[in-house]
Amino acid sequence: MSSDFASLGLSEPIWRAAAERGYTTPTPIQEQAIPVVMSGVDLLAGAQTGTGKTAAFAMPILHKLAATSETAFHGPSSVRALVLVPTRELAAQVEESVQLYGKNLSLRSLILIGGVKINPQMQKLRRSVDVLVATPGRLLDHIQQRSVDLSHVEILVLDEADRMLDMGFIRDIRRILAVLPKKRQNLLFSATFSPEIRTLADGLLNNPVSVEVASRNATADTVSQRFLAVDQDRKRELLTHLIGEQQWHQVLVFTRTKHGADRLAKHLSQGGMQAMAIHGDKSQGARTRALAEFKEGKVRVLVATDIAARGIDINELPHVVNYELPHVPEDYVHRIGRTGRAGNNGQAVSLVSVDERKQLSDVEKLLKRSFTKETIVGFEPKQSFSSQPHAPHTRRPAAPGAQRRAPSRSTGGGNRFRDR
Ligand code: AMP
Repeated sequence: MSSDFASLGLSEPIWRAAAERGYTTPTPIQEQAIPVVMSGVDLLAGAQTGTGKTAAFAMPILHKLAATSETAFHGPSSVRALVLVPTRELAAQVEESVQLYGKNLSLRSLILIGGVKINPQMQKLRRSVDVLVATPGRLLDHIQQRSVDLSHVEILVLDEADRMLDMGFIRDIRRILAVLPKKRQNLLFSATFSPEIRTLADGLLNNPVSVEVASRNATADTVSQRFLAVDQDRKRELLTHLIGEQQWHQVLVFTRTKHGADRLAKHLSQGGMQAMAIHGDKSQGARTRALAEFKEGKVRVLVATDIAARGIDINELPHVVNYELPHVPEDYVHRIGRTGRAGNNGQAVSLVSVDERKQLSDVEKLLKRSFTKETIVGFEPKQSFSSQPHAPHTRRPAAPGAQRRAPSRSTGGGNRFRDR
């Protein structure tokens, strides 16, 4: 068995675990980030889901922890590496990766997320933990209950830091940082770099090495993007038509609101299509179940809000539908990044009504291109986009590797989301 991961300095048990999964060639973010993490310096990484970023930090962290595990016992409840993530789904996926790459090592990982009982977590925390993956709210609960000891953390990862700020976690993060030891290695991963992220990075990282991989999704040629102009009140019908006509068997549909997700899933189910909704008001059990059934193909349509879908990792997901365009254009990129992964072809279809011109034009500005608005026979909108006074600008295509515009988003209290 051979692996290019070995040449990055990773030990055999780790690259063998990756090879057994079929991964022998590092992705660009892995190639750049792994040696930096191994060297012990701080890292600022620009990469989003789909690039292989999880392994980019999980593998070298496991390597380092395993190398010193004999001498590093700090007592019960103590944690050596802490990975903070914004959502429960992402936490589950990161911990799965840690398990996967660490399966030939005797290191212990644990996940702490909200939405499930705290007592079993406390039980599990009685033993020391090598890699702890947590969402901020629940981790703070444990800090307050003194059920976790973070005073020996050697490595901290903030994963999807931009999303954590969007979700209003900044204060929680600062409270967590306050109980960590001063001397530690810090890794910050973010898909976008707003001024808020820069401020966080400046305060957190010491002389970081920056690595960035082109936003795979923004330029992905494995994802075809279609925009269908349709009246708002005919979107349900058009969606049902597309799924049936084109025989989509696994489709992830995004709505803007939880209520909208529930309504749409109900409508589709009543029409005889297996559909479920997944969003923040659903219990963790219901979310996990819906996702599992969707992955297994028992549920044909999964309707999700942006927060719930964050980090959903389904190999070969063929279709993503934007039932409504998101308010934040970066979310469009995250959404369509659920498909077309690992070289598979994916299709992203957006149903756009005239009142979404502003959101459409924001997406076009972000991606630095304009999209043709198609119509489907029988679903032509009453009002056409071109008859509107402010048609979106046509922009030149982006130069390869061009920087994306830094988004200017508020991270203030408005959309605060506590994951408890
Ligand atoms: P991530 O960006 O961490 O969400 O990873 C995206 C997907 O790529 C996951 O399904 C990983 O299992 C997969 N992956 C990670 N590293 C590699 C690799 N070196 N080669 C192929 N696939 C990979």
